[in-house]
Amino acid sequence: MIGKLVVIWGSMFSGKTEELLRRLNRAMRAGKKVQLFKPKVDNRAGTCVRSHAGREAEAVVFEKPGEIINLLEPGVDVVGIDEVQFAGTEIVRVVKDLLFYGIDVICSGLDMSYRAEPFPVTMHLAAFSHECVKLSAVCAECGDDAWVTHRKSEEDALVVIGGADKYAALCMECRFKAQKGREGNSCR
Ligand code: ADP
Ligand code: MG
Ligand code: ZN
Repeated sequence: MIGKLVVIWGSMFSGKTEELLRRLNRAMRAGKKVQLFKPKVDNRAGTCVRSHAGREAEAVVFEKPGEIINLLEPGVDVVGIDEVQFAGTEIVRVVKDLLFYGIDVICSGLDMSYRAEPFPVTMHLAAFSHECVKLSAVCAECGDDAWVTHRKSEEDALVVIGGADKYAALCMECRFKAQKGREGNSCR
């Protein structure tokens, strides 16, 4: 039977990693063999996947998505992939291969960059997922539902790895205000 794909997406701090770990634990409780992967670019927490609330699990680190197939342990029923937006476009083909091997896949990843632009890999996976779970954090300014990850630092590279030191989840209104303060004009 072909596996099922779940995509958990949202901003930073929205609970994607917690939801991924919850689902993997649930699968283990049901007697399934699970294996968790994360891309090497996410160098936080070494070989662990760790949520902002401190929940963690050991993961297999990959540099290129194609490595996942070789790193796969025999008899795995469910594969989890955290920070999937950083995995590179090849991950889409790898996930499809896993599904065709009959393996269920749960991916968690950012929907948008700090520039509020969609991450193509997450979008692509979400488009052919069986289930999509969109989570939102709490806006760090006003407590509303957060919409995007705001970068507090001035760095402008697309990918800058960091946590609460560099990023905050903001609702749409507070994000526009923060951008306006930075640029001196509206970003709408
Ligand atoms: P993600 O993987 O989406 O970045 P995590 O699963 O690592 O999120 O962390 C979620 C946890 O982060 C929450 O349960 C909460 O304890 C904590 N947290 C910190 N800042 C926020 C915030 N602004 N909104 C919601 N949760 C937050
Ligand atoms: Mg996470
Ligand atoms: Zn707000």
